[in-house]
Amino acid sequence: MPYKICTYCGKASYSAAESPTVKWLCPFCDKDISHVKGLTTLPKKEVAAEESK
Ligand SMILES: [Zn+2]
Repeated sequence: MPYKICTYCGKASYSAAESPTVKWLCPFCDKDISHVKGLTTLPKKEVAAEESK
């Protein structure tokens, strides 16, 4: 599931459908975060942590 970290309040916002034509509004502060780079929940974090050791 794609999500974005709001640059205004720092909270994670999840979206069911990632469409570039629809504005992505933060559900916490109602700011437009469509320009924020989307993230995924893929387990790449574990690999990065392993390499940084
Ligand atoms: Zn926000």
